[in-house]
Amino acid sequence: MHLFCDVALPVPLDMAFTYAIPSGMEPVVGGRVLVPFRQQRMPGIVVELHDRAPRVTTPAVKIKSVIEALDLSPVLDDQLLKLGKWIADYYLAPLGEVFRTMLPLSAEFKQAITYRITNAGNMALHLAGMSGSPGRSRRTHEEQLVEFRVLDYLAERDDERVNEARLRNATRVPRALLVGMVRKKWVVREDVSAARDAARTVKVAVLLSGEPRVPSTAPSASLGASAAGPARQNGQEVRAQTSSHPEMEPGTGEDARPSTSKKLNQNQRTLIDALAAAGGRVPVEALRGLDVPRATLGALVRRGLVEIVDEPQAFTASKLKPRPSPFEFEFNPAQTEALRQIRERMGSRKFAGMLLHGVTGSGKTAVYFAVMREVLEQGRSAILLVPEIGLTPVMAADLVQVFGGEVAILHSGLTDDERAEQWHRIKRGEARVVVGTRSAVFAPVSDLALLIVDEEQDHSYKQEETPRYHARDVAVMRAKMAGAVVVLGSATPSLESYYNARKNKYMLLELPDRVEQRPLPEVEILDMRQEFQETGHEQVISRKLAVEIRDRLDRKEQVMVLLNRRGYSPVVLCRACGQTLQCKNCAVSMTHHKRERKMECHYCGHVAHIPDKCAHCGSEYVYFVGTGSEKLEELLHGMFPQARIGRLDRDTVRGREDFERALNALNEGELDMLVGTQMIAKGHDVHGVTLVGVVGADQALSLPDFRAAERTFQLLTQVAGRAGRGQSPGKVVLQTYFPDHYAVQFAARHDFAGFYEKELQFRSWMHYPPYSAVANVVIRSEKLDDALAWSGELGRWFEKTRHEGIRVLGPAAAPILRLKRDYRYHFILKSPSREKMNALLRAMLAEAAARKIPRTQIIVDVDAVWLM
Ligand SMILES: [Zn+2]
Ligand SMILES: [Zn+2]
Repeated sequence: MHLFCDVALPVPLDMAFTYAIPSGMEPVVGGRVLVPFRQQRMPGIVVELHDRAPRVTTPAVKIKSVIEALDLSPVLDDQLLKLGKWIADYYLAPLGEVFRTMLPLSAEFKQAITYRITNAGNMALHLAGMSGSPGRSRRTHEEQLVEFRVLDYLAERDDERVNEARLRNATRVPRALLVGMVRKKWVVREDVSAARDAARTVKVAVLLSGEPRVPSTAPSASLGASAAGPARQNGQEVRAQTSSHPEMEPGTGEDARPSTSKKLNQNQRTLIDALAAAGGRVPVEALRGLDVPRATLGALVRRGLVEIVDEPQAFTASKLKPRPSPFEFEFNPAQTEALRQIRERMGSRKFAGMLLHGVTGSGKTAVYFAVMREVLEQGRSAILLVPEIGLTPVMAADLVQVFGGEVAILHSGLTDDERAEQWHRIKRGEARVVVGTRSAVFAPVSDLALLIVDEEQDHSYKQEETPRYHARDVAVMRAKMAGAVVVLGSATPSLESYYNARKNKYMLLELPDRVEQRPLPEVEILDMRQEFQETGHEQVISRKLAVEIRDRLDRKEQVMVLLNRRGYSPVVLCRACGQTLQCKNCAVSMTHHKRERKMECHYCGHVAHIPDKCAHCGSEYVYFVGTGSEKLEELLHGMFPQARIGRLDRDTVRGREDFERALNALNEGELDMLVGTQMIAKGHDVHGVTLVGVVGADQALSLPDFRAAERTFQLLTQVAGRAGRGQSPGKVVLQTYFPDHYAVQFAARHDFAGFYEKELQFRSWMHYPPYSAVANVVIRSEKLDDALAWSGELGRWFEKTRHEGIRVLGPAAAPILRLKRDYRYHFILKSPSREKMNALLRAMLAEAAARKIPRTQIIVDVDAVWLM
């Protein structure tokens, strides 16, 4: 038994907090506890149990005690605890916030603040009733009225605690006023937040024995009191009792009982028969299917014949339809070899990193599935990370087909409850194959054999909020800790991963051919500067691309057109004064969305009316400039009125169904053309597309971001891979204003190695990854003065601090100076030594804390993928 425990709490502070353990309570390391923290109750993770009395700076401060130990066994095992600590250290993130990210169990904790009235409050209410004294000014009078409304409301409920939301709803009291009332001691604020039962329950009707109810012995009593876990066992007990009563055979039970001599009516008989036929237990919801009034069930309950109990809900089966054709594992030699290598490494039970580099359409997914199936057969576990499962419905359907009930699919559409439910299923070992996005890397599987990161270069693996971890890199670290194999798969690996493979840190597995020897498409580069000179107009669709599209439509073949910018027009410009319409929260242009009749900021989501006059000078000469995917669709409709055109972007795709519908329509031949943003470029299996037009994918090349070329190369390669998958050869027409840029040139030649060498040279000159570690430090504030002052102070501190081997650039205005209301200045740190860089960052945070710069106003982004 220990006296104290150190607890990591989900607050932006880089420390653990010590609490006393009340006698009789036994928290566990890696388990959750509920503790008091700054007038609140908060769940945290125990990181250490010990007997060292904490040093208390002032005698008046008492060590607080744990309120409740929420877990009997750890929710984070040793490996996950260790992984969490590594993340906190590597990404300079508070440990408690890391743990919160790792555990999707927020649904199990209910935050509840309540208020009740005090004697002083009652007295104030009483006195006010006698004097009716109005305040001096009109404003205080109104405030008083609100205060008395609150007191009235609470007084009516006397001793009852009233939930904050309910109170504020009923009385419309502003929060500040409520705080004042607490200060005046008229009301007491209490935090009654508590852990909630993990499992969701469902109402079940249970057929009881014919005896009249005796509260102390009836099975219902034990059922009602039981928690989620034991309920099932109790349920079985009940069933056993029920079936042991011969009177309860259908149609005979009623008359045998002396206490309820009344005969059952037809409806009641129907219900009883149905219950008995189903073994004595049926979810209430299912009984509604019978043609019986709802009141009938109530009547049976009142007569003691049926009991309604809460039972943990059975896990919902997937709604995904498996595809009619079974998944086939027919491998070409390269796939067979990759499979053999992965299998061999897994057998050794030691860490191994592998990079599976396969061109688009080379059958990487089939390799994943085959090794995952082997893992399952060996009784071990596997995790497959994908960028966005909602956009790969085919893969999800195949997973269910191949792995059945043993797969847990974690996607962004799950509610908190569903996520927690899946987490428990994995923890109990019911699902040993886990497929999901970024955070699935933390799935609590045991005996992990294999981690796969599909499309490992995808930027959605990087979390852009605290903790700013990269799931691919965390996957590699988890595999190291578990002695597992990690496979990074991609058609266009990130520079970092390919570099590691070249340096033999990862084994390189290549799938150089498309399945069934299908050829890669021909790519034609179209210089849009020349097109402008020859036509005298800014063209969206070049003459050449128009001809090619018409040709495919005539041949009844399908076309995809990529424009990686959503909306109708990206800029609204005043021709009189030259100003553009900017977001009120961000230093970026608002985008015109024509169909939805609004202006929208794509960075913060702010929406505004479409202007008919310039906001600056009042001129009516406002012009909508540039083309987004919505306008592209309209343009193509105009050019090819007969063609059936679909669009895929974040405005048309709200959920998986929308996406699936569009892809199905394309595959069924109900569409001739699909236009859209990068969404259409991701790895879907499309069959009839023989032409891909790229009308805008290289704007990124003009951004001040060292990854711009890599991103562009990846996008161009991906979208080109959509062409010619069927038996017809494909073609890509790539319109660009940067025809000579190496990213464009190498993508057109399908030359990954060539691009890689060139880009690596640039990275080495500029001291960027993989040659240097990079961190982006952003200082932000809604007040420009604060952002400037703080970044200036830290800039001077960096200047006078010795930091050998680390380059510090800045402070400089961030490329997007204002974002979501914050003004932003930044530093970029580069160093070949990550240890030195992180030590300097830690010293910088300590300095900032000493200078009282709020921790939340400093973003430290280690291995930043986005420097804007
Ligand atoms: Zn103007
Ligand atoms: Zn904005």
